[in-house]
Amino acid sequence: MEAGSITFERRQTRQVMVGDVPVGGGAPVSVQSMTTTKTADVDGTLQQIYALAAAGCDIVRCTCNEQAAAEGLARIVPRSPVPIVADIHHQYRMALAALDAGVACLRLNPGNIRKPEHIKLVASECRDRGVPIRIGVNGGSLDPELYDKYGGKVTPEAMVESALMELAYFDEVGFDNVKISVKASNVPLMIEAYRQLAEATDAPLHLGVTEAGPGSAGLLKATAGIATLLAEGIGDTIRYSLTADPVEEAKAGRQLLEALGLRDRKNVDLIACPSCGRAEVDVIAVAEEAQRAFGDRQIPLQVAVMGCVVNGPGEARDADIGIAAGNKRGHLFVRGTNVAVVPEDEMVDTLVEWAEFIMEHGIERALERGDLTAAKDAAERDRNALLADQGDDVNHSEERIELIRRR
Ligand code: SF4
Repeated sequence: MEAGSITFERRQTRQVMVGDVPVGGGAPVSVQSMTTTKTADVDGTLQQIYALAAAGCDIVRCTCNEQAAAEGLARIVPRSPVPIVADIHHQYRMALAALDAGVACLRLNPGNIRKPEHIKLVASECRDRGVPIRIGVNGGSLDPELYDKYGGKVTPEAMVESALMELAYFDEVGFDNVKISVKASNVPLMIEAYRQLAEATDAPLHLGVTEAGPGSAGLLKATAGIATLLAEGIGDTIRYSLTADPVEEAKAGRQLLEALGLRDRKNVDLIACPSCGRAEVDVIAVAEEAQRAFGDRQIPLQVAVMGCVVNGPGEARDADIGIAAGNKRGHLFVRGTNVAVVPEDEMVDTLVEWAEFIMEHGIERALERGDLTAAKDAAERDRNALLADQGDDVNHSEERIELIRRR
């Protein structure tokens, strides 16, 4: 079975253009993040924007909370490599200032700007300028009237109603250039809110788990929410909200989309065996060394690091290239075929060098480059030596079962 051929059916949505990045309507799911600098600090903000773009971020949001921020945006927008979205919370005047600064999109929180005349004024300006708005409903700052209406609780229904109310105001001024988010920090709540929203509108949806938090817990929470919806075909653009350097958000977003097959791979996809009693090297250390060595290089291959030559090449036969340890040597294989043998301490360097060769010349040339017979014989010898040394039951399961039975 060729895993790469399985794709998720995407929900049909309208398309909006955030600058030159299409969102929805069958466009690739885009990655967003937000700067953490003061927007008035033009150089600092641009530095972060460039780092985000290099990490695979397609669209960047900057806060526009004061006059100085709007003026900063006027200088940032023309120098940014990606479209800029202005984040507006309480002051509709800041929305108008951000439009004057030339931003590609506004994000409005309906829970915060609540006067219909202000909402409609901003929407009319956006309509006339052809600038889209993201309606950014947030479970933590839901319109208090809706909160009360739904029994003092943030519910999926309340969040969707908030988005639809905003849409209705926009409708009154003939504006429908929108994308919508209904974020919450509670993952089941967020998932259900997006499911209901997807039923209620064909506007493109921006996915996120808000305030997911730091470290692996934050990463997991965000992934649980975003990936579940993407696998259901819901979601046109995503943002990881992590308590971390925003570059980490961009990388996580990009990696998730690549893992789900929703974006072409940009960097290496490193796979590694979990290691077991048969491992001939410290798999974790070698895999980490390989990850570091490949870093951000644009080598979109699947690369495998396997702990032993007994099972490694077979288990990773779909990888473009891989290496398996055996008898103090590294056995290099390309799509499951052994191509070379190198000393154990050269495993990672060899992987990188051959991966670069594949990028330049292709898989076929890499297979021609190797002495396949010698590599296969060496792998066979080391495999047999390991089997003779460790036996078939290297994890001693049978021995343990025998012990249990004897009790
Ligand atoms: S059998 Fe070999 S390849 Fe499989 S997990 Fe163990 S060490 Fe890794």
